[in-house]
Amino acid sequence: MAKIDFTKIVKPYYKNAVIALEELIKINSVYDQATISTSAPYGKGVKKALNYIAELGELFGFEVDRCDNYLSELTFGKGDKLISVFAHADVVPSGHGWEQDPFIPFYKKGCLYGRGATDDKGPLMAAFYAIKALKDNNLINNYRVRLVVGGDEERGSSCLKYYFEQLKKEQPTFGFTPDATFPLVYGEKGITNFISEKNINLPEIVSLKGGLAFNSVIDQATLQFLADEQFAEFLKKTRKIETKVLEQYVMEATFSGVSAHGSMPEKGKNAGLLALEAYAEFYQNKEIKKLISLFKDFNGKPFGGFKKGKNLGLTTYNLGVIEYQNKTLTLKVNFRYPEKTNVNECIKNFDLASGFTSKAIYDSPPLLFSLKSKLVKTLLNVYRDESDDKKTKPITMGGGTYAKNAENTIAFGPAFPYEVNNIHNANEFINIKNFELQMIIYARAIYELGNLK
Ligand SMILES: [Zn+2]
Repeated sequence: MAKIDFTKIVKPYYKNAVIALEELIKINSVYDQATISTSAPYGKGVKKALNYIAELGELFGFEVDRCDNYLSELTFGKGDKLISVFAHADVVPSGHGWEQDPFIPFYKKGCLYGRGATDDKGPLMAAFYAIKALKDNNLINNYRVRLVVGGDEERGSSCLKYYFEQLKKEQPTFGFTPDATFPLVYGEKGITNFISEKNINLPEIVSLKGGLAFNSVIDQATLQFLADEQFAEFLKKTRKIETKVLEQYVMEATFSGVSAHGSMPEKGKNAGLLALEAYAEFYQNKEIKKLISLFKDFNGKPFGGFKKGKNLGLTTYNLGVIEYQNKTLTLKVNFRYPEKTNVNECIKNFDLASGFTSKAIYDSPPLLFSLKSKLVKTLLNVYRDESDDKKTKPITMGGGTYAKNAENTIAFGPAFPYEVNNIHNANEFINIKNFELQMIIYARAIYELGNLK
């Protein structure tokens, strides 16, 4: 392959890429139920962001398909081979704690701040200008390049399912999604959500509620109990929790935990379990104590749900939602597992140990590429060659990128190892130098994949 200087090719686009990124960050593209319509399946903000990408594509001579406003698809080139890049235009809600308005880009020490700067608007723009640079330099020959921009990645990638299942779009010859970390992610754990229920009499409790989603650690739980001054006193003394009196005979206590992603329950503190623990300790409830002990280890060891994969690591169980009402205790669990795991057996073992009855409601099997595959070798080589990092090894993770929804596709960047971009948190940013390096890496990666024999 002729030696091409990709830095030189991409450099003239740096400035416009940053300006386009700023404009995209200004569009608040959080999923918005209130403004959903048939022409805006994820709400007005997401539609506006997708439209911005589509218009940019039209302006620069790409073939554009708006995909019923579920995604924007930009294509260029001719040939059988299809290289696809899957990015997303939706962002998670801004949350609290920002130094400035999360939808008005601001700079600090060479970094651009704003919601979506790294996840995923920055890499999306880096990929777009990488493709434009290749196009303008006549480097897209005998293959097609496609930038597929989704509108619903953050809530579970319904957009990409729509793309392949409803619109029956073509699977790529090779693809990558710039939505994780460099060097690349060659494996993602399987994910199963299950709901467990048990009829159980907790006479002192009126209700218990905590958590919103399977895939995050419960950060707050509210326990309502039959008025009991001694229990209120116990909570105050041992847990520093103040109790509210709702009615003469009902009291309420709110337990605070620490939120964390469902793939890493060990990084959080589960408020639902804290509430159960306080209850079981004070009222000496053995059944609940037993249940808590099953979740003490996040990997399922206490109930025979532990598995370890050679590549994908350990099983994890995250209790995401808890509810007690009308003598029924309900648990919603996000279970992530490595290759060669018998999912049904793990769940059955949980039921045997806990006395609960569980039902799996979602399953996404594990993803694993060979380190010797052409796709992995090509991308790894491009990354090592264009960055200063010659050593960091490809990784596997808890999972959940677009790579699971498309064939021959792998998560590649955009974060550099040891970089903290505050993704999903306050003050998310992208380092402009790294943004430029992403453009170089993506341009070369697309070119090399397109020319792979
Ligand atoms: Zn993302």
